[in-house]
Amino acid sequence: NLHNTILELKGNIRVFCRVRPLLPDDGAGTEKAVISYPTSTESLGRGIDLIQNAGQKYPFTFDQVFTHDASQQDVFIEISQLVQSALDGYKVCIFAYGQTGSGKTYTMMGRPEVPEQKGLIPRSLEQIFQTSQSLSAQGWKYKMQASMLEIYNETIRDLLSVNRSGGLDMTRADGVVGKHYAIKHDSNGDTHVADLTIVDVCSIKEVSSLLQQAAQSRSVGKTQMNEQSSRSHFVFTLRISGVNESTEQQVHGVLNLIDLAGSERLSRSGATGDRLKETQAINKSLSCLSDVIFALAKKEDHVPFRNSKLTYLLQPCLGGDSKTLMFVNISPDPSSVGESLCSLRFAARVN
Ligand code: ADP
Ligand code: MG
Repeated sequence: NLHNTILELKGNIRVFCRVRPLLPDDGAGTEKAVISYPTSTESLGRGIDLIQNAGQKYPFTFDQVFTHDASQQDVFIEISQLVQSALDGYKVCIFAYGQTGSGKTYTMMGRPEVPEQKGLIPRSLEQIFQTSQSLSAQGWKYKMQASMLEIYNETIRDLLSVNRSGGLDMTRADGVVGKHYAIKHDSNGDTHVADLTIVDVCSIKEVSSLLQQAAQSRSVGKTQMNEQSSRSHFVFTLRISGVNESTEQQVHGVLNLIDLAGSERLSRSGATGDRLKETQAINKSLSCLSDVIFALAKKEDHVPFRNSKLTYLLQPCLGGDSKTLMFVNISPDPSSVGESLCSLRFAARVN
């Protein structure tokens, strides 16, 4: 079908743009709208124009553009096939990119406790567990394993690690690494992160409680580290192994859902010490990600996976016949127009 043809042409990389609604704190009404959508047939649903200083217009086109009124379900419908392909044995990565406050976490996690506001992670998991159960009628048996980690200053933090007393592992909340978390890829394309907690999961309920635990673990870091969560990458990984008991067919898929660190450029002059180090680490890893996706899209011989922890970790899930989707999240706040332009340019480069 047409969708698959496009996927092949584009080397399995797609970019979706999502604009969040204006929020009360955005200063609505004080400035002119900075975002509009072209209505021409060829760019309908795919185009977005950023208008700076009430004049200069920057047009962009992506695989899909979600306007402020797109619901979580509207967005999920467009990725459900991609999620499905992880059950068919594909390696899938879905990223959310954008400045802090642009809607990355809303898109990925949403508010799991409010059904309409559930994000892509809970919806994807629901679909995967439902489908895997219905496939058992055809002899398929699946084993799922989840892990959740955070990459902060090029350091991996295990979000599911618990200490002996059952509490959260505090040794890493302040960024001090007790363990090395060395990343290794074996010849089967499987990734091993030494010492990382991997949990067998059989139901949506089990994963949900792990997600809660991870969020808890992130927020511990947040108070101690001045909102660390917006300056770290969150990586949720679900490994799916399926075997068909009658045909002996096997599949090994991986679904990675990644809430990236905020892409905003902190003013260089003001940032010193830890803050400067953080900014440099984020900028470096986001530009490495862009370099990797760009090289893959252009089918270049050398793909610089090793230049950052994130790209090295995800290497087997980015190359080959794996599938990648990047959300670029945009804030409609007029005061964010500079950052929005940077985000759209970043996304346009990998698109
Ligand atoms: P980020 O993770 O990029 O820093 P958030 O996801 O936390 O941004 O979003 C910032 C704020 O905007 C939150 O209060 C969130 O609930 C709200 N928000 C983001 N996207 C939407 C959306 N599509 N619809 C309604 N509210 C949204
Ligand atoms: Mg966030």
